[in-house]
Amino acid sequence: MKLATRAGRIVPSPTLSITATAKAMIAQGLDVIDFASGEPDFDTPEPVKAAAEAAIRAGFTKYTASSGIDELRLAIAEKLQAEQGLRYDKSQVLVSCGAKHSLYNLAEALLEAGDEVVIPSPFWVSYQDQVLLNDATPVLLPTHEADGYAVHQQALEERLTPRTKAIIVNSPCNPTGATYDRAILEGIAEVALRHDLVIISDEIYEKILYDGARHISIASLGPDVAARTVVVNGVSKAYAMTGWRIGYAAGPKELITAMANIQSQSTSNPCSISQKAAVAALRGGDAFPRHMVVEFDRRRRLMVERLNKIPGVTCRMPAGAFYAFPNVAGVFGKRAAQGPITAAADLADYLLKEALVAVVPGEPFGSAAHLRLTYATSAEAIVRGVDRMQAALEKLA
Ligand code: PMP
Ligand code: GLU
Repeated sequence: MKLATRAGRIVPSPTLSITATAKAMIAQGLDVIDFASGEPDFDTPEPVKAAAEAAIRAGFTKYTASSGIDELRLAIAEKLQAEQGLRYDKSQVLVSCGAKHSLYNLAEALLEAGDEVVIPSPFWVSYQDQVLLNDATPVLLPTHEADGYAVHQQALEERLTPRTKAIIVNSPCNPTGATYDRAILEGIAEVALRHDLVIISDEIYEKILYDGARHISIASLGPDVAARTVVVNGVSKAYAMTGWRIGYAAGPKELITAMANIQSQSTSNPCSISQKAAVAALRGGDAFPRHMVVEFDRRRRLMVERLNKIPGVTCRMPAGAFYAFPNVAGVFGKRAAQGPITAAADLADYLLKEALVAVVPGEPFGSAAHLRLTYATSAEAIVRGVDRMQAALEKLA
């Protein structure tokens, strides 16, 4: 069978496949510590579950408007206005089956062969593949650990060509945990305005911020910036609702309409029950995410402090999201029984086999010198898992 060329351009999501491997090993009875899954370990809040139950009981189990129910689109518009001062009409808000689906609809509506999309690197695994699936070209913009993975205007401009169509902004960032301050966002916005770029702002971790930081959406920098920005977000991370599959996009009407048309011809509406649950989540205020963040903060410090005690490993304190992104280059050159450790992928493989610790290697995020570990897991698992990592690394010759 001859498959479409585009199917051969991509790989399965590495975060999802490593998580699946870890879960399969656990199901076989192995005592694997899973630092791979990128999701809160909290349960979905009770009022959200109650809203879903009520929706089922009320028979709210049919197709809905393809772009999402009015109640949810209005709740999203109100949230964006209350928190970021952004004004969107209902027609500028599209609800999809997760932020990943929102991003995919966006890529389909915006990109074609020859278009280039600038992606600051390290980056979340699906950006590159979604661009490739839509015949366009990802252009990586390297950022550096030493300055907190900042995006500098000059470096950004050096990546631009007449074919550059868009830039992806992901603050707080998966995998680095970096956040962009106002000056960085202004720099990006200024370049986007000057070069007529679309800004794709993935704000899925906006509520997972530490040390009292407040989220700034790049779209809030001014009406001219908002007019070229698509804000992408969802309920997965803030409300521990990864399985419910509700994400959304808000932006210029023409682009949102094109995305909505694509959705109506591909997936139809997101799950009716999950939409009712998402309304309850968004209307429920910030008490739940705040409670989670207090706990994540404790675990963040625990994991980062312990990682920094391992010889050859250094780890920055992430400012947002729930990932540690340690630099493990100090271990390269050592040997395991299975072969030399020359890159993050070798080390991740070794840790899974030798220490039964599942981590995601940095390569699919754009760095062969880092591992990604989630601390959205129990303090007990963090202590045991990092101790096991240390013991395994000390065995390397
Ligand atoms: N963006 C980033 C940066 C993410 O980490 C995730 C989580 N996988 C998503 C988007 C998609 O989240 P979801 O589809 O669950 O809303
Ligand atoms: N965003 C999460 C992660 O990066 C979930 C997995 C995925 O959607 O790729 O691990």
